[in-house]
Amino acid sequence: MSVYDASAPLDRVLGGKSAGALNKAFGITTVGEFTRHYPRRYVARGELTDMNTLVDGDAVTILAEVVSVTTRPMQQRRGTIVEVVISDGVAKLSLTFFNQRWREGMFRPGRRGLFAGEVSSYRGKRQLAHPTFEFFPEDVEEDPDRIAMFAGAFIPVYPATASVSSLQIARAMSVVLDTLGDIPEPLPAFVIADHDLMDHRAALLAIHRPVSEEEIEAARLRLKFEEAFLLQTVLAQRRAEIAHLPARARVEHDGPLIREFEARLPFTLTPGQLAVGEDIARDLAGDHPMHRLLQGDVGSGKTLVALRAMLSVVDSGGQAALLAPTEVLAAQHFRSIKNLLGEMAEGGMLGGHDQGTQVALVTGSMKVAQRRKDLLKIISGDAGIVVGTHALLTDTVQFRDLGLVVVDEQHRFGVEQRAALSAKAVDGTRPHVLVMTATPIPRTVAMTVFGDLDISTLEGLPEGRAGVTTHVVSMKEKPAHVDRAWERVREEVAAGHRAFIVCPRIGDDGTDEDLLEADLEAVDDESTKSPLASVLETAEYLASGPLAGLRIGILHGRMSSDEKDAAMGAFASVDADPGIDVLVSTTVIEVGVDVPMATVMVVLDADRFGISQLHQLRGRVGRGNLPGLCLLMTNAPVGSPARKRLNAVASTTDGFELARLDLEQRREGDVLGASQSGHRTSLKLLQVVSDIGIIELARTAATTLVEINPTLSEYPHLIAALADFVAEDQAEFMEKA
Ligand code: ADP
Ligand code: MG
Repeated sequence: MSVYDASAPLDRVLGGKSAGALNKAFGITTVGEFTRHYPRRYVARGELTDMNTLVDGDAVTILAEVVSVTTRPMQQRRGTIVEVVISDGVAKLSLTFFNQRWREGMFRPGRRGLFAGEVSSYRGKRQLAHPTFEFFPEDVEEDPDRIAMFAGAFIPVYPATASVSSLQIARAMSVVLDTLGDIPEPLPAFVIADHDLMDHRAALLAIHRPVSEEEIEAARLRLKFEEAFLLQTVLAQRRAEIAHLPARARVEHDGPLIREFEARLPFTLTPGQLAVGEDIARDLAGDHPMHRLLQGDVGSGKTLVALRAMLSVVDSGGQAALLAPTEVLAAQHFRSIKNLLGEMAEGGMLGGHDQGTQVALVTGSMKVAQRRKDLLKIISGDAGIVVGTHALLTDTVQFRDLGLVVVDEQHRFGVEQRAALSAKAVDGTRPHVLVMTATPIPRTVAMTVFGDLDISTLEGLPEGRAGVTTHVVSMKEKPAHVDRAWERVREEVAAGHRAFIVCPRIGDDGTDEDLLEADLEAVDDESTKSPLASVLETAEYLASGPLAGLRIGILHGRMSSDEKDAAMGAFASVDADPGIDVLVSTTVIEVGVDVPMATVMVVLDADRFGISQLHQLRGRVGRGNLPGLCLLMTNAPVGSPARKRLNAVASTTDGFELARLDLEQRREGDVLGASQSGHRTSLKLLQVVSDIGIIELARTAATTLVEINPTLSEYPHLIAALADFVAEDQAEFMEKA
């Protein structure tokens, strides 16, 4: 008999037809890929006894015995129906075949086998129409010992599609496993020994053909570990590469900017801010570039930590760039940095402090003349601090001595973009890089998604925060609560405070493209029926109805940046004239926007937003010492998944807890964005959220390995496995792009 190794094309083993079907259904082309199509679960005898729990549309695999076979003519049309009743000893189920009279002879009462198909109902009776099936061999049926063995075995249930059933996959897998040739062991022997792991080949055989639960567990553990280890090895290598790049050490000597800044700060730094500040200062003083992730809950004061780092780099003679995800946020940072620095921000200008520096702003929509002035300040080094959007990444922006890049409130900032900014440093050195996440993420997710970065977590919130209270307001069931919500907005405004009203659409053309602008997370269900609240209509309705007489403004992504600036300015500053009390906006205000006087937020059609996004949104209120109120309005029915998400958001303000919930409910990729997502096709078994222990062990092992053998030259099988692993992710990435 021939044997095939992992790289053999599947059609050589299975023939073109089966291989073609598997390729079409799952994109599987080689033996190796196919052996990594792992069972989702296993059925054992008796597991599916309660056939009454079957639900229409479920794809099921059932172990049962034929009870009876009947053939009758169809009632409405010509032709026949073969109906086979099967039983698992407790409940019964029908199998139906149309115009396949010859099937009749195949189903001898008493025969046992596996039946797979999609559950449907006909006249209130559950059935499988045209199922696939496989009988146990006759000799098994006749030999009581072998029946017992078969009955005790675990029958794998594979991820299947309408055209390729689990049984067909199992049959093909059996052929592949029987002819499986040399399967090299990708893990180094010391890793296997240290962690007491099954070897690779044994694990593959065990996961597809287990004889006990213990074996399934051991095989799954081994294969999960392998996935985690491959991923962490890739990341450890990337970290090691970065660690060898040259960077200029930025040690501040005198520190006039940072001194001035801290003197002007109206509060003291939190212990958390001081602690991560030390991590950063240590990195900045090194000869290799910092690559650090700073994460912390919404409102924990990350921006301040970043600003201190930027100022110390400027104090030491370099430049620092702050990259913001939106123009609104870039403009806000620009304003607040200038405020905080006072005359220090006018260094080299008349009336400026002689040890000060200048602050430049670069966005895509700036006027040419202004932009040219700013670019000049940047290349001359007059501007020590440069704030901008993605426009900062373009070739026209050149620095004199870029020492630090801070990426704010961004989890969608890819490795490529980090590289583009790094390339802006001079004399072959690299700038230090600090990335700040918008949303808190569980530690293991951070290790997976940002695994090539060192991680600092900013603990705690500044003292004196009054915090946010959140309520879900059901628009259909409790219309009185809706009236009350608008009344609350009026009360807050009467007290001199500000209100945000957030809508999922802009509404000028009524298309759903607005949702893209809002970066709305595609959320599952029912509530799409009535049109979603739009900024334009809501502003109009409120102005002529519940909020008549208040000063209402709007903000959305299709306004020009001047218009956006004007709206934010009128809303954010107490003495703006004309001011805005109520800002009706899309999620452009989602991250970072800081208006301490804002105390109430009403989110319309709140069920259209994801958990993390709502947490991020409500982080815009209750930021000062005034208590915040967040009202989540929804049409989603009580008990629906959407409603449960909203209740979760209302029940806690712990962003890490919510991030965990969010990840549990959805795949990591949906939460974190495609290119950087924790979801990777190469991770088949590993659960980024729940397999914490495995990920941590694998990370330690991978780091050790890369330290002792950076090129992995002693581990050719590992190198080959890594190449496959990375290729699989890249293929997926290409498809998405
Ligand atoms: P985030 O971590 O969400 O980016 P910010 O950096 O925007 O949070 O900070 C939130 C608010 O807290 C800002 O208004 C900021 O000025 C304020 N803040 C930051 N640090 C402190 C502190 N140590 N004490 C009091 N308020 C602070
Ligand atoms: Mg921030």
